[in-house]
Amino acid sequence: MNGITCKFGGTSLADADCIRAVVAIIRANPERRFIVPSAPGKRNPDDKKITDLLLAWHDLVRKGLDASQPASIIRERYTQLARELGVTFDIERHLDEIAKQVGVYIEPDFMASRGEYLMGLLLSEYLGATFIDPAECVKFDDEGLLDTAVTYELLGKRLQGPGLFVVPGFYGSRPDGVVKTFSRGGSDVSGSIVARAAMSSLYENWTDVSGFRMADPRVVSNAKRIELITYAELRELSYMGASVLHDEAIFPVRGPGIPIHICNTKAPSEPGTMIVATRASSFPVVGIAGRKGFTMIHVEKALMNKERGFGRRVLSVLEEHGVSFEHMPTGIDTISLIVHDDELANHGPAVIKGIERMCEPDRVTLAPGLALIATVGQGMNHHIGVASRLCTALSDAKVNLRVINQGSSEMNIIIGVEENDLNDAVRAIYNAFADWT
Ligand code: ASP
Repeated sequence: MNGITCKFGGTSLADADCIRAVVAIIRANPERRFIVPSAPGKRNPDDKKITDLLLAWHDLVRKGLDASQPASIIRERYTQLARELGVTFDIERHLDEIAKQVGVYIEPDFMASRGEYLMGLLLSEYLGATFIDPAECVKFDDEGLLDTAVTYELLGKRLQGPGLFVVPGFYGSRPDGVVKTFSRGGSDVSGSIVARAAMSSLYENWTDVSGFRMADPRVVSNAKRIELITYAELRELSYMGASVLHDEAIFPVRGPGIPIHICNTKAPSEPGTMIVATRASSFPVVGIAGRKGFTMIHVEKALMNKERGFGRRVLSVLEEHGVSFEHMPTGIDTISLIVHDDELANHGPAVIKGIERMCEPDRVTLAPGLALIATVGQGMNHHIGVASRLCTALSDAKVNLRVINQGSSEMNIIIGVEENDLNDAVRAIYNAFADWT
Protein backbone atom coordinates (compact mmCIF):
# COMPACT_ATOMS: atom_id res chain seq x y z
CA MET A 1 0.00 0.00 0.00
CA ASN A 2 1.17 3.39 -1.02
CA GLY A 3 0.80 6.64 0.96
CA ILE A 4 -2.34 8.34 2.24
CA THR A 5 -4.94 10.12 0.11
CA CYS A 6 -6.35 13.28 1.74
CA LYS A 7 -9.49 15.00 0.49
CA PHE A 8 -10.15 18.47 1.88
CA GLY A 9 -13.70 19.85 1.78
CA GLY A 10 -14.73 23.39 0.84
CA THR A 11 -14.92 24.78 4.38
CA SER A 12 -11.37 23.50 4.98
CA LEU A 13 -10.19 25.61 2.02
CA ALA A 14 -12.41 28.67 2.42
CA ASP A 15 -9.63 31.25 2.96
CA ALA A 16 -5.84 31.59 3.16
CA ASP A 17 -5.70 30.75 6.89
CA CYS A 18 -7.70 27.57 6.30
CA ILE A 19 -5.32 26.62 3.46
CA ARG A 20 -2.29 27.18 5.69
CA ALA A 21 -3.89 24.87 8.28
CA VAL A 22 -4.47 22.25 5.57
CA VAL A 23 -0.86 22.48 4.46
CA ALA A 24 0.29 22.02 8.09
CA ILE A 25 -1.83 18.85 8.27
CA ILE A 26 -0.30 17.53 5.03
CA ARG A 27 3.25 18.32 6.18
CA ALA A 28 2.68 16.69 9.59
CA ASN A 29 2.75 13.21 8.00
CA PRO A 30 5.02 12.40 5.03
CA GLU A 31 2.67 9.55 4.11
CA ARG A 32 0.07 12.16 3.06
CA ARG A 33 0.91 12.36 -0.64
CA PHE A 34 -2.26 12.39 -2.73
CA ILE A 35 -4.24 15.56 -2.15
CA VAL A 36 -7.79 16.11 -3.44
CA PRO A 37 -9.20 19.61 -2.89
CA SER A 38 -12.79 20.85 -3.19
CA ALA A 39 -13.57 24.38 -4.32
CA PRO A 40 -13.48 27.07 -1.59
CA GLY A 41 -16.61 26.90 0.55
CA LYS A 42 -18.31 29.39 2.84
CA ARG A 43 -16.15 31.51 5.17
CA ASN A 44 -19.19 32.24 7.34
CA PRO A 45 -22.86 31.20 7.26
CA ASP A 46 -23.84 34.17 5.02
CA ASP A 47 -21.05 33.59 2.51
CA LYS A 48 -21.41 31.88 -0.88
CA LYS A 49 -19.73 28.65 -2.03
CA ILE A 50 -17.59 29.10 -5.14
CA THR A 51 -19.39 26.22 -6.88
CA ASP A 52 -22.76 27.91 -6.33
CA LEU A 53 -21.37 31.17 -7.73
CA LEU A 54 -20.01 29.39 -10.80
CA LEU A 55 -23.36 27.70 -11.39
CA ALA A 56 -25.15 31.04 -11.00
CA TRP A 57 -22.71 32.65 -13.46
CA HIS A 58 -23.37 29.92 -16.04
CA ASP A 59 -27.12 30.10 -15.51
CA LEU A 60 -27.28 33.90 -15.91
CA VAL A 61 -25.21 33.81 -19.09
CA ARG A 62 -27.43 31.06 -20.57
CA LYS A 63 -30.47 33.21 -19.85
CA GLY A 64 -28.82 36.25 -21.44
CA LEU A 65 -28.80 38.12 -18.11
CA ASP A 66 -26.12 40.19 -16.41
CA ALA A 67 -23.65 37.83 -14.67
CA SER A 68 -21.13 40.43 -13.53
CA GLN A 69 -21.91 39.95 -9.85
CA PRO A 70 -21.03 36.23 -9.42
CA ALA A 71 -18.14 36.65 -11.88
CA SER A 72 -16.56 39.48 -9.91
CA ILE A 73 -17.02 37.75 -6.52
CA ILE A 74 -15.24 34.66 -7.89
CA ARG A 75 -12.43 36.79 -9.34
CA GLU A 76 -12.00 38.64 -6.08
CA ARG A 77 -11.91 35.49 -3.94
CA TYR A 78 -9.28 33.73 -6.04
CA THR A 79 -7.08 36.79 -6.51
CA GLN A 80 -7.21 37.40 -2.75
CA LEU A 81 -6.26 33.77 -2.07
CA ALA A 82 -3.38 33.89 -4.57
CA ARG A 83 -2.11 37.19 -3.14
CA GLU A 84 -2.31 36.09 0.50
CA LEU A 85 -0.64 32.76 -0.21
CA GLY A 86 2.00 34.43 -2.41
CA VAL A 87 1.55 32.09 -5.38
CA THR A 88 3.03 33.31 -8.63
CA PHE A 89 1.02 31.60 -11.36
CA ASP A 90 -1.11 33.89 -13.48
CA ILE A 91 -4.49 33.53 -11.82
CA GLU A 92 -5.89 36.48 -13.83
CA ARG A 93 -5.16 34.67 -17.08
CA HIS A 94 -7.05 31.58 -15.85
CA LEU A 95 -9.99 33.68 -14.73
CA ASP A 96 -10.07 35.44 -18.12
CA GLU A 97 -10.05 32.06 -19.84
CA ILE A 98 -12.98 30.84 -17.71
CA ALA A 99 -14.90 34.03 -18.47
CA LYS A 100 -14.40 33.32 -22.19
CA GLN A 101 -15.65 29.73 -21.86
CA VAL A 102 -18.76 30.44 -19.78
CA GLY A 103 -21.14 30.44 -22.74
CA VAL A 104 -19.55 27.53 -24.60
CA TYR A 105 -21.37 24.58 -22.98
CA ILE A 106 -25.11 24.14 -22.46
CA GLU A 107 -24.45 21.85 -19.50
CA PRO A 108 -23.10 23.59 -16.38
CA ASP A 109 -20.45 20.93 -15.65
CA PHE A 110 -17.44 22.70 -17.11
CA MET A 111 -18.17 25.91 -15.19
CA ALA A 112 -18.98 24.04 -11.97
CA SER A 113 -15.65 22.21 -12.17
CA ARG A 114 -13.53 25.38 -12.35
CA GLY A 115 -13.70 25.94 -8.58
CA GLU A 116 -11.80 22.70 -7.94
CA TYR A 117 -9.55 23.25 -10.95
CA LEU A 118 -8.32 26.65 -9.74
CA MET A 119 -8.00 25.45 -6.16
CA GLY A 120 -5.92 22.52 -7.42
CA LEU A 121 -3.59 24.85 -9.32
CA LEU A 122 -3.21 27.15 -6.30
CA LEU A 123 -2.60 24.35 -3.87
CA SER A 124 -0.12 22.51 -6.07
CA GLU A 125 2.03 25.60 -6.45
CA TYR A 126 1.80 26.37 -2.73
CA LEU A 127 2.77 22.79 -1.85
CA GLY A 128 5.32 22.30 -4.65
CA ALA A 129 3.23 19.33 -5.79
CA THR A 130 2.53 17.77 -9.20
CA PHE A 131 -0.83 18.95 -10.56
CA ILE A 132 -2.99 16.35 -12.31
CA ASP A 133 -6.05 17.50 -14.25
CA PRO A 134 -8.77 14.86 -13.74
CA ALA A 135 -10.21 15.74 -17.17
CA GLU A 136 -7.26 13.75 -18.51
CA CYS A 137 -7.64 10.63 -16.40
CA VAL A 138 -10.98 10.38 -14.56
CA LYS A 139 -13.16 9.05 -17.36
CA PHE A 140 -16.91 8.61 -17.67
CA ASP A 141 -18.49 6.26 -20.22
CA ASP A 142 -21.24 7.01 -22.76
CA GLU A 143 -23.89 6.34 -20.12
CA GLY A 144 -22.35 8.98 -17.84
CA LEU A 145 -21.07 6.37 -15.39
CA LEU A 146 -17.51 6.32 -14.13
CA ASP A 147 -15.36 4.06 -16.29
CA THR A 148 -13.51 2.52 -13.39
CA ALA A 149 -11.12 0.28 -15.33
CA VAL A 150 -9.87 3.09 -17.59
CA THR A 151 -9.76 5.61 -14.74
CA TYR A 152 -7.76 3.45 -12.33
CA GLU A 153 -5.33 2.58 -15.11
CA LEU A 154 -4.80 6.16 -16.36
CA LEU A 155 -4.81 7.83 -12.96
CA GLY A 156 -2.76 5.08 -11.33
CA LYS A 157 0.05 5.68 -13.87
CA ARG A 158 -0.02 9.44 -13.29
CA LEU A 159 0.21 9.02 -9.51
CA GLN A 160 3.50 7.14 -9.64
CA GLY A 161 6.80 8.61 -8.52
CA PRO A 162 7.97 10.59 -5.53
CA GLY A 163 6.53 13.74 -3.95
CA LEU A 164 3.09 15.18 -3.54
CA PHE A 165 0.26 15.08 -6.09
CA VAL A 166 -2.76 17.37 -6.25
CA VAL A 167 -5.83 16.06 -8.11
CA PRO A 168 -8.82 18.46 -8.00
CA GLY A 169 -12.05 16.80 -6.90
CA PHE A 170 -15.55 16.74 -8.38
CA TYR A 171 -14.92 16.18 -12.09
CA GLY A 172 -13.54 14.09 -14.90
CA SER A 173 -14.43 13.96 -18.58
CA ARG A 174 -16.72 12.17 -21.00
CA PRO A 175 -15.34 10.00 -23.83
CA ASP A 176 -15.37 13.10 -26.10
CA GLY A 177 -13.15 14.93 -23.60
CA VAL A 178 -15.81 17.37 -22.37
CA VAL A 179 -15.73 17.95 -18.61
CA LYS A 180 -18.36 16.14 -16.55
CA THR A 181 -18.90 16.54 -12.81
CA PHE A 182 -20.14 14.11 -10.19
CA SER A 183 -23.26 15.11 -8.28
CA ARG A 184 -22.91 17.83 -5.62
CA GLY A 185 -20.45 16.96 -2.89
CA GLY A 186 -18.71 14.70 -5.40
CA SER A 187 -15.14 15.53 -4.35
CA ASP A 188 -15.65 12.81 -1.74
CA VAL A 189 -16.04 10.37 -4.64
CA SER A 190 -12.95 11.80 -6.37
CA GLY A 191 -10.95 11.30 -3.16
CA SER A 192 -12.03 7.69 -3.08
CA ILE A 193 -11.09 7.20 -6.75
CA VAL A 194 -7.64 8.68 -6.15
CA ALA A 195 -7.15 6.46 -3.08
CA ARG A 196 -8.11 3.43 -5.19
CA ALA A 197 -5.95 4.40 -8.19
CA ALA A 198 -2.92 5.06 -5.96
CA MET A 199 -3.73 1.98 -3.81
CA SER A 200 -3.35 4.17 -0.74
CA SER A 201 -3.18 2.63 2.70
CA LEU A 202 -5.82 5.08 3.95
CA TYR A 203 -8.28 7.65 2.59
CA GLU A 204 -8.51 10.62 4.96
CA ASN A 205 -11.58 12.75 4.33
CA TRP A 206 -10.96 16.11 6.02
CA THR A 207 -14.09 18.09 6.74
CA ASP A 208 -15.50 20.50 9.33
CA VAL A 209 -16.94 17.94 11.78
CA SER A 210 -15.24 15.26 13.86
CA GLY A 211 -16.87 12.33 12.12
CA PHE A 212 -20.35 10.88 12.04
CA ARG A 213 -22.73 11.04 14.95
CA MET A 214 -25.21 8.32 15.81
CA ALA A 215 -28.02 10.71 14.78
CA ASP A 216 -28.23 14.12 13.12
CA PRO A 217 -26.92 16.59 15.76
CA ARG A 218 -29.51 19.15 14.65
CA VAL A 219 -32.13 16.70 15.93
CA VAL A 220 -30.26 15.02 18.80
CA SER A 221 -27.83 17.66 20.01
CA ASN A 222 -25.73 15.35 22.20
CA ALA A 223 -25.68 12.39 19.78
CA LYS A 224 -22.61 10.21 20.33
CA ARG A 225 -19.78 10.07 17.79
CA ILE A 226 -19.54 6.86 15.76
CA GLU A 227 -15.99 5.54 16.21
CA LEU A 228 -16.11 2.64 13.78
CA ILE A 229 -18.61 1.80 11.06
CA THR A 230 -18.58 -0.54 8.07
CA TYR A 231 -18.90 0.53 4.43
CA ALA A 232 -22.26 -1.27 4.23
CA GLU A 233 -23.65 0.40 7.35
CA LEU A 234 -22.49 3.80 6.20
CA ARG A 235 -24.03 3.34 2.78
CA GLU A 236 -27.43 2.80 4.43
CA LEU A 237 -27.05 5.87 6.67
CA SER A 238 -25.73 8.20 3.96
CA TYR A 239 -28.46 7.12 1.59
CA MET A 240 -31.01 8.07 4.20
CA GLY A 241 -29.58 11.53 4.74
CA ALA A 242 -26.48 11.30 6.98
CA SER A 243 -24.63 13.88 4.94
CA VAL A 244 -21.02 13.95 6.12
CA LEU A 245 -19.82 11.85 3.16
CA HIS A 246 -21.24 11.48 -0.38
CA ASP A 247 -23.22 8.23 -0.49
CA GLU A 248 -21.22 6.91 -3.47
CA ALA A 249 -17.81 7.57 -1.94
CA ILE A 250 -17.40 4.10 -0.49
CA PHE A 251 -17.56 2.18 -3.78
CA PRO A 252 -14.03 2.73 -5.15
CA VAL A 253 -12.32 1.87 -1.83
CA ARG A 254 -14.61 -0.92 -0.69
CA GLY A 255 -13.15 -3.56 -3.05
CA PRO A 256 -9.51 -3.23 -1.96
CA GLY A 257 -10.63 -2.51 1.64
CA ILE A 258 -8.97 0.90 1.95
CA PRO A 259 -10.34 2.44 5.18
CA ILE A 260 -11.83 5.95 5.15
CA HIS A 261 -11.06 8.18 8.10
CA ILE A 262 -13.36 11.19 8.59
CA CYS A 263 -11.25 13.92 10.22
CA ASN A 264 -11.84 17.52 11.30
CA THR A 265 -9.51 20.17 9.86
CA LYS A 266 -10.35 22.47 12.78
CA ALA A 267 -9.53 19.75 15.34
CA PRO A 268 -7.01 17.44 13.67
CA SER A 269 -6.20 15.51 16.83
CA GLU A 270 -9.80 14.43 17.45
CA PRO A 271 -10.32 10.75 16.61
CA GLY A 272 -13.14 11.16 14.02
CA THR A 273 -14.88 8.16 12.47
CA MET A 274 -13.16 5.20 10.84
CA ILE A 275 -15.01 3.40 8.02
CA VAL A 276 -13.86 -0.17 7.47
CA ALA A 277 -14.89 -3.45 5.83
CA THR A 278 -15.86 -5.32 9.00
CA ARG A 279 -16.13 -4.60 12.69
CA ALA A 280 -16.84 -6.64 15.79
CA SER A 281 -20.52 -6.08 16.54
CA SER A 282 -20.54 -5.25 20.21
CA PHE A 283 -23.68 -3.12 19.95
CA PRO A 284 -26.68 -3.72 17.68
CA VAL A 285 -27.33 -0.22 16.31
CA VAL A 286 -24.61 2.04 14.96
CA GLY A 287 -26.71 4.94 13.69
CA ILE A 288 -30.10 6.37 12.81
CA ALA A 289 -30.89 8.61 9.84
CA GLY A 290 -34.14 9.89 8.38
CA ARG A 291 -35.41 11.79 5.37
CA LYS A 292 -38.65 13.49 4.43
CA GLY A 293 -40.21 13.69 1.00
CA PHE A 294 -41.63 10.23 0.20
CA THR A 295 -45.01 9.21 -1.20
CA MET A 296 -46.72 5.85 -0.83
CA ILE A 297 -48.58 4.47 -3.85
CA HIS A 298 -51.13 2.09 -2.42
CA VAL A 299 -52.76 -0.54 -4.67
CA GLU A 300 -55.63 -2.79 -3.55
CA LYS A 301 -57.29 -5.65 -5.42
CA ALA A 302 -59.31 -8.56 -4.07
CA LEU A 303 -57.54 -11.89 -4.67
CA MET A 304 -54.36 -10.14 -5.82
CA ASN A 305 -52.46 -13.06 -4.27
CA LYS A 306 -53.81 -15.40 -6.98
CA GLU A 307 -53.01 -13.16 -9.94
CA ARG A 308 -49.76 -14.00 -11.67
CA GLY A 309 -47.67 -11.02 -12.81
CA PHE A 310 -49.53 -8.37 -10.81
CA GLY A 311 -46.37 -6.98 -9.19
CA ARG A 312 -44.54 -6.98 -12.50
CA ARG A 313 -47.30 -4.99 -14.15
CA VAL A 314 -47.32 -2.40 -11.35
CA LEU A 315 -43.55 -2.02 -11.60
CA SER A 316 -43.67 -1.79 -15.39
CA VAL A 317 -45.82 1.35 -15.04
CA LEU A 318 -43.16 2.95 -12.84
CA GLU A 319 -40.48 1.95 -15.33
CA GLU A 320 -42.49 3.39 -18.20
CA HIS A 321 -42.54 6.76 -16.42
CA GLY A 322 -38.88 6.59 -15.35
CA VAL A 323 -39.75 6.46 -11.64
CA SER A 324 -37.56 4.35 -9.36
CA PHE A 325 -38.99 3.02 -6.11
CA GLU A 326 -37.41 2.65 -2.67
CA HIS A 327 -39.47 -0.06 -0.96
CA MET A 328 -42.38 -2.33 -1.74
CA PRO A 329 -44.23 -3.55 1.36
CA THR A 330 -46.93 -6.04 0.37
CA GLY A 331 -50.04 -7.58 1.96
CA ILE A 332 -52.26 -10.39 0.61
CA ASP A 333 -54.47 -8.12 -1.48
CA THR A 334 -52.34 -4.96 -1.36
CA ILE A 335 -49.07 -3.67 -2.73
CA SER A 336 -47.54 -0.37 -1.60
CA LEU A 337 -44.70 1.33 -3.37
CA ILE A 338 -42.66 3.96 -1.62
CA VAL A 339 -41.11 6.49 -3.98
CA HIS A 340 -39.18 9.69 -3.40
CA ASP A 341 -41.06 12.83 -4.43
CA ASP A 342 -38.17 13.94 -6.67
CA GLU A 343 -38.63 10.71 -8.63
CA LEU A 344 -42.40 10.90 -8.78
CA ALA A 345 -42.20 14.62 -9.72
CA ASN A 346 -45.34 15.37 -11.75
CA HIS A 347 -45.87 11.77 -12.91
CA GLY A 348 -48.32 10.96 -10.06
CA PRO A 349 -51.61 11.17 -12.04
CA ALA A 350 -50.11 9.34 -15.05
CA VAL A 351 -48.75 6.57 -12.80
CA ILE A 352 -52.19 6.10 -11.20
CA LYS A 353 -53.84 5.95 -14.65
CA GLY A 354 -51.19 3.50 -15.84
CA ILE A 355 -51.76 1.18 -12.86
CA GLU A 356 -55.53 1.37 -13.39
CA ARG A 357 -55.06 0.45 -17.04
CA MET A 358 -52.47 -2.32 -16.55
CA CYS A 359 -53.74 -3.92 -13.33
CA GLU A 360 -57.46 -3.11 -13.01
CA PRO A 361 -57.18 -2.68 -9.22
CA ASP A 362 -60.12 -2.03 -6.87
CA ARG A 363 -58.38 1.09 -5.62
CA VAL A 364 -55.11 2.95 -6.15
CA THR A 365 -54.21 6.00 -4.09
CA LEU A 366 -51.24 8.28 -3.47
CA ALA A 367 -50.37 9.18 0.11
CA PRO A 368 -47.67 11.89 0.24
CA GLY A 369 -45.96 13.31 3.34
CA LEU A 370 -44.03 10.23 4.41
CA ALA A 371 -40.65 10.31 6.13
CA LEU A 372 -38.41 7.23 6.19
CA ILE A 373 -36.01 6.43 9.01
CA ALA A 374 -33.23 3.84 8.81
CA THR A 375 -32.03 2.25 12.03
CA VAL A 376 -28.77 0.62 11.01
CA GLY A 377 -26.31 -1.81 12.56
CA GLN A 378 -24.75 -5.12 11.60
CA GLY A 379 -24.98 -6.10 15.24
CA MET A 380 -28.77 -6.43 14.96
CA ASN A 381 -28.30 -9.67 13.00
CA HIS A 382 -29.70 -12.40 15.27
CA HIS A 383 -29.99 -9.94 18.15
CA ILE A 384 -33.41 -10.58 19.63
CA GLY A 385 -35.61 -7.63 20.57
CA VAL A 386 -34.36 -4.87 18.24
CA ALA A 387 -37.69 -4.32 16.45
CA SER A 388 -39.60 -4.65 19.70
CA ARG A 389 -37.44 -1.98 21.33
CA LEU A 390 -37.81 0.30 18.32
CA CYS A 391 -41.61 -0.05 18.21
CA THR A 392 -41.94 0.47 21.96
CA ALA A 393 -39.86 3.66 21.72
CA LEU A 394 -42.14 4.98 18.96
CA SER A 395 -45.30 4.07 20.81
CA ASP A 396 -44.01 5.75 24.01
CA ALA A 397 -43.26 8.87 21.93
CA LYS A 398 -46.84 8.71 20.51
CA VAL A 399 -45.54 8.33 16.95
CA ASN A 400 -47.71 6.38 14.52
CA LEU A 401 -45.78 3.80 12.53
CA ARG A 402 -47.12 3.84 8.95
CA VAL A 403 -44.83 1.17 7.53
CA ILE A 404 -41.94 -1.06 8.67
CA ASN A 405 -39.47 -3.05 6.58
CA GLN A 406 -36.50 -5.13 7.66
CA GLY A 407 -34.18 -6.39 4.94
CA SER A 408 -33.11 -10.03 5.04
CA SER A 409 -29.53 -8.97 5.76
CA GLU A 410 -30.83 -7.91 9.18
CA MET A 411 -28.69 -4.80 9.12
CA ASN A 412 -31.33 -2.17 8.69
CA ILE A 413 -34.90 -1.57 9.84
CA ILE A 414 -36.67 1.06 7.75
CA ILE A 415 -39.78 2.66 9.13
CA GLY A 416 -42.15 5.20 7.61
CA VAL A 417 -43.82 7.90 9.73
CA GLU A 418 -45.68 11.14 9.03
CA GLU A 419 -43.20 13.88 8.09
CA ASN A 420 -44.22 15.92 11.15
CA ASP A 421 -43.20 13.03 13.40
CA LEU A 422 -39.71 12.63 11.90
CA ASN A 423 -37.68 14.40 14.58
CA ASP A 424 -39.64 12.95 17.51
CA ALA A 425 -39.20 9.49 16.03
CA VAL A 426 -35.42 9.91 15.50
CA ARG A 427 -34.99 11.16 19.08
CA ALA A 428 -37.05 8.28 20.47
CA ILE A 429 -35.07 5.66 18.52
CA TYR A 430 -31.76 7.26 19.45
CA ASN A 431 -32.65 7.22 23.15
CA ALA A 432 -33.71 3.59 22.88
CA PHE A 433 -30.44 2.43 21.30
CA ALA A 434 -27.66 4.87 22.25
CA ASP A 435 -26.60 2.86 25.30
CA TRP A 436 -28.05 -0.55 24.42
CA THR A 437 -25.51 -3.33 24.01
N1 ASP B 1 -17.62 21.86 -4.98
C1 ASP B 1 -18.57 20.84 -5.23
C2 ASP B 1 -19.86 21.14 -4.48
O1 ASP B 1 -19.99 22.18 -3.86
C3 ASP B 1 -18.04 19.47 -4.93
C4 ASP B 1 -17.57 19.25 -3.52
O2 ASP B 1 -17.29 20.19 -2.80
O3 ASP B 1 -17.48 18.09 -3.13
O4 ASP B 1 -20.76 20.33 -4.51
